[in-house]
Amino acid sequence: MAVEAKDVVIIGGGFAGLSAGVALAERGFRVALLESKPALGGRAYSFADPDSGDFVDNGQHVLMGCYHATLAFLEKLGTRDRLIARPDLAIEMLTGPQQSACVRTARLPGPLHMAAAILRYQHLGPTERLSVLRAGLRLMYMRRFQARRLAQLSVAQFMDATRQNETARRCLWYPIALATLSEDPQLASASLFAEVMRLAFFARRRDSAFLYATVGLSDLYCEPARRIIEDRGGVVACRSIADHLEFGDDGRVSRVRLRDGAALQAANFIAAVTPDRLLKLLPEGAAGASSFAALTDLKTSPIVCLHAWFDRPVTDAAFVGFVGTDTQWLFNKRVIFGGPSDRPGYLSFVISGARDFVSRSNGELIDIILGDLRRMIPAAAKARLLRAMVIREKQATIATDTVSNLKRPATITSIPNLFLAGDWIQTGLPATIESAVRSGNAAAEAVSARVGA
Ligand SMILES: Cc1cc2nc3c(=O)[nH]c(=O)nc-3n(C[C@H](O)[C@H](O)[C@H](O)COP(=O)(O)OP(=O)(O)OC[C@H]3O[C@@H](n4cnc5c(N)ncnc54)[C@H](O)[C@@H]3O)c2cc1C
Repeated sequence: MAVEAKDVVIIGGGFAGLSAGVALAERGFRVALLESKPALGGRAYSFADPDSGDFVDNGQHVLMGCYHATLAFLEKLGTRDRLIARPDLAIEMLTGPQQSACVRTARLPGPLHMAAAILRYQHLGPTERLSVLRAGLRLMYMRRFQARRLAQLSVAQFMDATRQNETARRCLWYPIALATLSEDPQLASASLFAEVMRLAFFARRRDSAFLYATVGLSDLYCEPARRIIEDRGGVVACRSIADHLEFGDDGRVSRVRLRDGAALQAANFIAAVTPDRLLKLLPEGAAGASSFAALTDLKTSPIVCLHAWFDRPVTDAAFVGFVGTDTQWLFNKRVIFGGPSDRPGYLSFVISGARDFVSRSNGELIDIILGDLRRMIPAAAKARLLRAMVIREKQATIATDTVSNLKRPATITSIPNLFLAGDWIQTGLPATIESAVRSGNAAAEAVSARVGA
């Protein structure tokens, strides 16, 4: 079949590839999307667990009201109503048994809603609360007027500069930084942190809301996106491993060669894979080209998750932050999901920035996490563990340290018909679903602009 201007190949079926695919299919492009795994979803997927009857996510994903691109994407897919939104942010933070305090926004216009949350947060004393508010304003000031200086600072260095004490860091700043940047605050970029704070907490009240899926993650977007692409004449092919890109004499990509030997031609190509995979697709020496020079320097950060089923409910809360333990978050999947009642206690635990944990054995991780659970919620000791499943995402996100963040490449490359997408592209956001979807939209926009569509 002759190649037409609107033929596009997308490599990668995560949030980035699928959002690019849907955007292009809607603009009349003929999309061929290749995914190497048997199922779509990339680093945000779920599977049916035959033992428990539950849909299990690779790790709990939380979305926020400020994920405007993602919410618009889900709206297009018709699955926006599969998210529960808590209209006001209310995060219970435990520093020990019965030592609970809540970061709860007030029904005030943003950002006053957040200021009120800080002023009411009981883990901080009155002076600490005021100091936190001052630091928040300072962060917004530096983001706006001293961006270069802020880009050199880690979150911890920013906290030093604004004299945030140990309690403010431990009970507030660092849990937020770890959750949103998946990175050790000693390394994490203060610029990225400022962007998260601006979008989530210094904006409208509803932008601070937490949202989570009431279905398995894959059911939120994978098949619905596939349907839109295929209904508009495209193809979505799983178990299709792109092996390398082939180039014509004009320096443009002419086709993608698959591992099984087949080749696919198109006018434009979007690589929506992670940096290590992209390097494998490129010809030797391409890493020297300016668009790809930094790919080898980008580091990654792991996340460890434990799914645990108990014979009884352990807590009524939907999610709880643990302060001062290795385990950072507990998600109560029975409250979030519902599900089979013969195993009333289904909890999921998260350790982000988990470099010290990712190579430990399952037994060690289970002991650490359940030890933290019992320390924070002593009643959990009465619950019998029926089953535990550890999921290690060794390359959960790119590292968001100050150096890596500045090396993230742009959508448009030095090869005229090759575009990049993925949560790790320079979107100004940490490597999140919202960054992936924004990058997918940007790649679709760039392809459309090139074709004049
Ligand atoms: C445990 C965990 C928890 C997280 N929690 C959150 C959260 O709470 N909130 C949030 O916003 N984000 C969270 N994230 C981050 C979020 O999952 C990612 O930002 C997002 O899924 C990235 O999507 P992507 O499309 O950019 O990349 P990916 O999902 O990695 O997609 C790339 C796809 O390309 C495919 N591929 C690779 N090579 C080839 C090839 N040669 N040929 C064909 N296909 C190929 C891969 O199989 C993959 O499906 C979390 C991530 C993890 C791992």
